[in-house]
Amino acid sequence: MPIHISRRKLLIASTGSLLISLTPFARAAQAGADIVASRIWPATAYTRMTLESTTPIQFKYFQLKNPDRLVIDIQGSATNQVLRELSSKVIPMDPYIASVRIGQFNPETIRIVMDLKTTVNPQVFSLAPVANFKNRLVVDLYPTATVAMEQEKNDPLMALLQDYSHGKVNSDGTTRPQATASTPPVQKTPVIKPPVTNQPPQPGKPNKLNRQPVIMIDPGHGGEDPGATGPSGLHEKDVVLAIGREIKKILDSYGYKTYMTRNEDIFIPLGVRVAKARKLQADVFVSVHADAFTNPSAKGTGVYALSPKGATSAAAKYLAQTQNAADSIGGVNYSTDKNVNNTLFDLTQTATINDSLKLGKDVLNQLSRINNLHKGSVDQANFAVLKAPDIPSILVETAFISNPTEERLLSTSDFRQKVASSIASGIKEYLSTAILARR
Ligand SMILES: [Zn+2]
Repeated sequence: MPIHISRRKLLIASTGSLLISLTPFARAAQAGADIVASRIWPATAYTRMTLESTTPIQFKYFQLKNPDRLVIDIQGSATNQVLRELSSKVIPMDPYIASVRIGQFNPETIRIVMDLKTTVNPQVFSLAPVANFKNRLVVDLYPTATVAMEQEKNDPLMALLQDYSHGKVNSDGTTRPQATASTPPVQKTPVIKPPVTNQPPQPGKPNKLNRQPVIMIDPGHGGEDPGATGPSGLHEKDVVLAIGREIKKILDSYGYKTYMTRNEDIFIPLGVRVAKARKLQADVFVSVHADAFTNPSAKGTGVYALSPKGATSAAAKYLAQTQNAADSIGGVNYSTDKNVNNTLFDLTQTATINDSLKLGKDVLNQLSRINNLHKGSVDQANFAVLKAPDIPSILVETAFISNPTEERLLSTSDFRQKVASSIASGIKEYLSTAILARR
């Protein structure tokens, strides 16, 4: 079903809880938040803990040193079975949490103490109900800036997530210049900056692989955001991660440089996925999904590109809306979200979209050999994850996970393998005629 989310509503809701959380717990406990679910998503880039409640969760938090701890107090609530189970959800491999302890601090307050393995950068925020979720309290544990910087040598994801949480990443994946107000001016001779190199590749000879192509593979959803779920319970996020890993293997064997936006069960905001592709100067961005529709008979494979104007079909528009809801479902902190969309479509983007359509056609061609197509051509709509202004980007809906027959297909390694090699072949085909930007 389409999910209508009011950003404004979310913003008010999260600010409201935050304000209340900053006041001392003077109010009498109301009916009380009934914690109905708890989850922990450990990952290298950040670990997330989520509590879900029937009513908005009122909270405050603080950090303690020696040893490192994060303390979260929840007001108007009592410990229950769900909370008691929380400590058993911590896994030894969690990079940030060593253990979690729960206690009734006073009759109106539950205290959650997280024993940490390292100093962290916490972000704690609440989310209003959306999709199947009730009120959520989200605790994100990021590494400190130094650790993130160290990690960046291997993978820029951590630093980008930090930038994103500080509102420095735009929705099209471009990053904002850092505020320099507090930096003392440096004495220097005037430098004439070269123009922003955002131009389309210059016409020239077809690429004879004069350099290694860089491919960004984007398995959709992850973590709190399961994506679509099939009738027998298969999650889109798990299917597309498996397919993404297969695509990477094949493209690696072609000698390409390949990256993944996520290689774990982790929620990554759409803007960060695009930003990572831009940071690593990807030549191709391919987002992998599995479609869902209310009518279980809907089936077939589809490929999508960005539309600068309206969607090319109602189905594509519907799909883009549901996919763009990923950030609200996965849970981004709107109180620090300054990721306004200030994209201006220019000639670069027009050229990029033309390339995306070519790429999409090549991939769709290959996929037509292994499954029925939902539609015979590349559809277009306003997909947030395809907005890199300078990277040909497509979104592949591998099959309908909501269709019992296709869900079964998606669960087999044989079909996953076929999908992966079709996508890889399509990319290779596209690159055989594409002109790679000069580096
Ligand atoms: Zn999806």
